[in-house]
Amino acid sequence: MTADVLVVGGGAAGLWCAEGLARGSGLRVLVVEKTPRTGTKILASGGTRCNVTTTLGPSEAAALFGPKGARFLRHGFQTLTPLDVRERFESWGVPLDEAPLQKVFPASGNARDVRDALLGATQGAGAELVLDAPVEFVRRENGTWVIGTASGARYAAPRVVLAAGGLSYPKTGTTGDGYAWLRELGLGIVEPVPALVPLRSPAEWVHSLTGIAWQGGEVTLVDGEGKKVAQRSRPILFTHKGVSGPGAMDVSHHVSAARRNGMTGPARFRLRFDAFPALSREELRAAFVGAAGSPGNPKVQRVLGTMATGPMPRRLFDAFAEEAKVPTDVVVGGLSKSLRHALVETLKGLDVPIDGTLGWDQAEVTAGGLALKHVNPRTMAVNGHDGLFVIGELLDVNGPIGGLSFQAAFATAELAALAIRG
Ligand SMILES: Cc1cc2nc3c(=O)[nH]c(=O)nc-3n(C[C@H](O)[C@H](O)[C@H](O)COP(=O)(O)OP(=O)(O)OC[C@H]3O[C@@H](n4cnc5c(N)ncnc54)[C@H](O)[C@@H]3O)c2cc1C
Repeated sequence: MTADVLVVGGGAAGLWCAEGLARGSGLRVLVVEKTPRTGTKILASGGTRCNVTTTLGPSEAAALFGPKGARFLRHGFQTLTPLDVRERFESWGVPLDEAPLQKVFPASGNARDVRDALLGATQGAGAELVLDAPVEFVRRENGTWVIGTASGARYAAPRVVLAAGGLSYPKTGTTGDGYAWLRELGLGIVEPVPALVPLRSPAEWVHSLTGIAWQGGEVTLVDGEGKKVAQRSRPILFTHKGVSGPGAMDVSHHVSAARRNGMTGPARFRLRFDAFPALSREELRAAFVGAAGSPGNPKVQRVLGTMATGPMPRRLFDAFAEEAKVPTDVVVGGLSKSLRHALVETLKGLDVPIDGTLGWDQAEVTAGGLALKHVNPRTMAVNGHDGLFVIGELLDVNGPIGGLSFQAAFATAELAALAIRG
């Protein structure tokens, strides 16, 4: 079967691109999807609420992808801004709401509305879908791109857009198939590693804090040599395996990449947890001294609750107190100068040992992928391979939690669609 454009993968990027290609263009666009349904990750995203983009402006949003990612995505995020994404979904009948931490969700709180709107728009624009069709090869034959599926079907077109995703959440259909096709074409792949994934800790005391969340903290990832690798001010959640929540997950690709960067044996990091980043050590000390002079001589745990967005959970306070060697039921008036010092130091930097991540099954995205040097950042065209475009998570870009992965998928898809339409 022949088409004007083949899109491999019917996920966020593939559908967005197919819609943009087909809308009013008269192009025959064929989306070839491995699984029986499209947009599976959209359905699973944001705890099934789908954090569809960000309230940040294009430059601020792109900057969160690190210097290399920001340079690559800048043009895409200017061409399809986060606001454009919001307007597009609203025009497809999906009202959106802003949420804390610069997030944007469908007002219904239902990811299905986002997937259905994108799929409806794609089909409404005239793109055709071939489902349950795992692509096995992508090659160029006599100047035409040819893809072959597991059933033996072959599709040909002068242009092909690869949107097969990465390796995260492989049970949704993304098993890294695109890397092999790209390698066969002689293109470089930055070794994919799990990103936006919970961190694993070997420490029993960490596991004993399971279920405890802390909203206003800051985490710093420190490597085995004491070097600060990354920092993030986002909530964390202790789990029976280690630490999860956006704060921990946002820095996780550095742990995953340790082996890629030459580390042997188990990854050894510390997640330094500052429970009160908005307060300096001096301000914390002064707060304790001030509270000691107040009537009632409250317990330290209660005083801490008044300095945070909410009460400090008992078990979390106990972890700080034990680390600082402060009695857990101590009252502020009972804190000697040295104990106060020890407690403040611990509150500003509790070291959580980290020895890995929970891996691909729990990773929301992939870090690594097609090396960006091969791709034109204005068009997503692959240099030296006429008619080949790569978009979405298959590219070597990854950002933090907060609707940024979809923003990157949609923006790269938009660029490819615009470039192909001419
Ligand atoms: C649990 C979870 C929650 C998430 N929450 C959010 C969130 O709230 N906000 C956010 O911005 N991002 C979120 N993400 C990340 C986001 O889903 C991805 O970054 C985004 O879907 C990437 O889009 P993509 O189109 O490149 O890849 P995908 O959406 O993964 O789509 C790739 C498609 O290609 C298909 N495919 C793979 N191999 C083949 C093949 N051989 N032949 C044919 N088709 C193939 C796959 O089946 C899939 O349909 C979340 C991810 C997960 C796993």
